[in-house]
Amino acid sequence: MVEPKCPECEIQGVKHIVSSESDERSKGGDAWFDIVHCDQCGHVYGVFNKVSLGPTVELPKLPQIRRP
Ligand SMILES: [Zn+2]
Repeated sequence: MVEPKCPECEIQGVKHIVSSESDERSKGGDAWFDIVHCDQCGHVYGVFNKVSLGPTVELPKLPQIRRP
């Protein structure tokens, strides 16, 4: 199986693709976005809006992404 590779730092592996919540929060304390990025160089693969369904930015084709 081919592991996904970061286009910026070329590190390989799904484990290096992480998501973090935005600092912007609603009154209820929920983060507005999930930001999916490389844990080595910070390259952003995409941003998911947590309120609506589906990604707001199209992700490159990756076999799996860990979602919280
Ligand atoms: Zn990277």
